[in-house]
Amino acid sequence: MYIQTILGPISPESLGVCACHEHLSIDLSRIKGDLDTALQDVSLVTEDLRSFKEYGGKSIIEVTNYGMGRDVSALLHISKSLNLHIVASTGCYKDPFIPEDKFHFTRDDFYKWMVDEITNGLDGTNVLPGVIGEIGSSYNTFEPIETELFYGAIEAAKETKLPLSTHTTLGTMAIEQINLFVKEGLSLDQVIIGHQDLNPNDAIVLDVLSSGAFVALDTIGKENYRKDADRLTSLLAFLEHGYEDQLLLSSDLTRNSHMRVNGGQGYDVVLRSFVPTLRHFGVTEEQIQKLLVTNPQKAFSIRKEVNSYAI
Ligand SMILES: [Zn+2]
Repeated sequence: MYIQTILGPISPESLGVCACHEHLSIDLSRIKGDLDTALQDVSLVTEDLRSFKEYGGKSIIEVTNYGMGRDVSALLHISKSLNLHIVASTGCYKDPFIPEDKFHFTRDDFYKWMVDEITNGLDGTNVLPGVIGEIGSSYNTFEPIETELFYGAIEAAKETKLPLSTHTTLGTMAIEQINLFVKEGLSLDQVIIGHQDLNPNDAIVLDVLSSGAFVALDTIGKENYRKDADRLTSLLAFLEHGYEDQLLLSSDLTRNSHMRVNGGQGYDVVLRSFVPTLRHFGVTEEQIQKLLVTNPQKAFSIRKEVNSYAI
């Protein structure tokens, strides 16, 4: 059992405090038409991450995949200069962010391409991804290309044992994603359902949790989508129902304006702001340790043998 970082495999116990869904170099401006969504300044991101480290952050799951501006050399630079574990991703995002060269891919094409990246490395490097993600569905639907993408990702996850982390648009389609994984026989302890803090319907999220999959409350601090106070109320309800072993936290920063120097929430928002609020509302240290450390350890472990750990 190991976690595959960009610098090599590590023991799950070495992961430490983990942000389960982040972007350290991303460019969505081709589709969004907004240069704010081209977050590619390595020194800006590195500076912002220093505070994440000061608050105890040790690792980042970086879910920027092919077509989202994935930049392996930037990740390597950040990882080495901050001594931060980074897990990189294979896969594509969702319609219309899937690049032209993959737009006619079948499920088998996606499967073969992801297994090739997982086996041989990303973008011509020998850097291996440690997660298939973020694999996305659209608002209340799977677009045809997303269906192919999901089937391909499922087969790649079954074969390689890599965890599969999803994107749900504003929290929708989580149950449909779970149903697809169950139908195709993908073990749900290998699955992280994303953006469930954007689903205001706690009953649906509780259904997702009852499936056994990990659930990411991963847009903390994006108050324009949903107030953190409401995220907190939902999280307390999930804990009340006993799901403390399946919940993960993160902030999903994607914009220059999200950096603290530009007035944004910063990569430290969960540790600086949200976790102290959890304590205030009676969440125990043991539970916080699960949300930040133990659950990511389990969620991102690859259940295979590895010859030796790099670090
Ligand atoms: Zn994301």
